Order: sequence, then structure tokens, then C-alpha cells
Amino acid sequence: MIINPIIANKTTEYPILIAGPCSAESKEQVLNTAKQLAATKKIDLFRCGIWKPRSSPNSFEGIGIEALDWLEAIEQTLNIPTCIEIANAKHLELSIKKGIRHFWIGARTSVNPFAVQEIAQAAKGLDIAIMIKNPIVPDIKLWYGDFERFYNVGINRLAAIYRGFNTYKASIYRNDPAWLNLIEFRRQYKEIPIICDPSHIAGNSEWIFEIAQKALYLDINGLMIETHYCPKEALSDKNQQVTVEQYREIIRQLRIPNKLEFIDNKLEDYRSRIDELDNEIIALVAKRIEIVKEIAKLKKEHNIPILQMNRWKSVLDNSKAKAEQMNIDPEIIGEIMQLLHEAAIKTQEKVILLPE
Ligand code: PEP
Ligand code: MN
Repeated sequence: MIINPIIANKTTEYPILIAGPCSAESKEQVLNTAKQLAATKKIDLFRCGIWKPRSSPNSFEGIGIEALDWLEAIEQTLNIPTCIEIANAKHLELSIKKGIRHFWIGARTSVNPFAVQEIAQAAKGLDIAIMIKNPIVPDIKLWYGDFERFYNVGINRLAAIYRGFNTYKASIYRNDPAWLNLIEFRRQYKEIPIICDPSHIAGNSEWIFEIAQKALYLDINGLMIETHYCPKEALSDKNQQVTVEQYREIIRQLRIPNKLEFIDNKLEDYRSRIDELDNEIIALVAKRIEIVKEIAKLKKEHNIPILQMNRWKSVLDNSKAKAEQMNIDPEIIGEIMQLLHEAAIKTQEKVILLPE
């Protein structure tokens, strides 16, 4: 894929800054917020939702087409491009008529190939930019498929928006950032720029800064931050929206990392020491697997289950205790041990379940 920038005249390519309220609520609200944001000079694209995907039909579902005129006014008077969420071909057609040229596909739509294909068909031949939020489930192939659908109809101004994943896990955050998915998406599909949406990950304005900072250190290309001139009056997502003053402060305080891979030989020395250690770790894992194979033969001979819960519990507890003794995070060691245990089970299955 050859990807072009979503904002045609953006000179500094990094990071792209997108801000604006969760929803357009009134002409006064969007225009005021946009004016204040324009004054910060830290905005490339104004966002707001005019059709809102809500869990309950009794909550505010957006203003609809009336708000398109307000966005047209922002583009013309403040000279900031605007973007909105579209969820079907009709949304796209109506917005195009009003001169909107930047769009995003929401997390509840990007999960549905039929809906994305329908929008892509309607987008064929248009000079527009499309940003695609990750699907609510962590399926990065499905996400990439959405990009392919647009690319196949000739849209190459594309970007990904990382907004975390729906979860039942108890957490201070609204959505699970599950950062490994961001790293994996970047590794597999490196041509697609990623914009982080800390607002929907956080669900609370308190955590926006720390999530945005972390994302920048994961080498993302932009931020989308929900900003409202008066968050406490917002009709949707009020807890996670920041004021324009808070937005200005967040952007001012963020440390933007340099795009460098090499610093000096010292870094290279450390890296070669890490490589040596990694080789040792792999050799040890191989040794461990050899012993696991012997255990598998014994279990087969005596016909006992592969999974021995008491043994696994004590291995896990002991490793975590050892981690604490050595001053490293027991959770990290716990996750590594879980992977080793999974490898041991797979190895034993091969020995025990395969026909003689
Ligand atoms: C939004 O950006 O306001 C929105 C509805 O987000 P998401 O699709 O990520 O839930
Ligand atoms: Mn929102």
C-alpha cells in the first residue's frame, strides 16, 4: 500500500493533532469550541460526532444533518478541516454535499465488513481521507481488511485510530489499551499511520495525558482528544472530555520523542548484550522442553492428565516470589511463566495425543 497524508497541506508530518467534542450539540457549542481550539494553534483537524452510536436508544444520538452546516461554517471561517464519524453510505453522501472531506469509521462499524464495504463503494472516486478506528474486538486482521476495502477503491489517504478494546476486565480505564495490539499492527502493517484516541481508552479526562504520552513513546503519528468548551454540560462522554485550556496544557507538556533508531555505539553495545542474553534464554527454553518431553512419556505411561493444577500453581507462585526477591515485577514474570506453561502443554499434547 502507498499511503498519502490524511491532511494534504500539513507541513510538519508529526504528530497530527485532532481535537473537538464527542458530539456536536449546538451551533454555539461547536463554533465556540472550534474558535478556542483554533486559538491554541495546536490543531490540524476538528472532530465531532453528528450521528452517535450509543448503547441505549434513549441517550443522545446526535444532531444529524443540521450539524453539517455548522461544520461547513468552521471550515470556512476558521480554516480548519473538520472530520466526523460515518457509519453508512448515506452519511457519506450527505456530508460530501456539505464539503466535508475527512471522516472516521467508528469502532462499532469497523467490526462489520458489510458496512465498511458499503461505505467504501460510496467513497469510490472521491478525494477524501478516511481514518478507521480499531474494531471493538482485538482482531487486527479484520482492522487491516477495512483499510484494504478503501484502498481497493482508490482511497489512499488513510490512517488508523487506536481507541482500545471493549472489555469486562475491571480497570480504571473505560477500554483496555492492550498495547500489544498496537505494536503488532505497526509491525505487520507499517505503512499505515496510527493516531491514538486516549479519550475513549481512558473514559476519564484524568488519564488522557498519561495515555497520550505512553502512545507517543510507542511511536504513534497523532492524537485525537475529545475537547469541549464546557465538558460538564456535554450530552455524551462528559467524563472524558477536556476543556480547551486542559487540552492546551496536555499538548504543551507532552514530550514528543525524536524519530531516531540509532543514538551511538553505547546503545549498540547494550543491544548486543541483550542479543546474547536472548540466545541464552532460547537455549534454556529448549532444554526445558526436552525435560517436558520426558515428563510427557511418563504421564502417557501412567495415563494421567497433562494439566496438573497443583503443580502449575506452585510453579507460578514460586516464580512470582523469586521475581519479588530479585526486584522485578512479578506480573511480568507471571506472564512469561504462563507462556512457558502453554508451550509445555502443547509439547505434551504432541507426545501424548499423537497416534503411536
Ligand atoms: C467517538 O469517537 O466519539 C466514538 C463514538 O468512538 P468509538 O467508535 O471509538 O467508540
Ligand atoms: Mn465520544
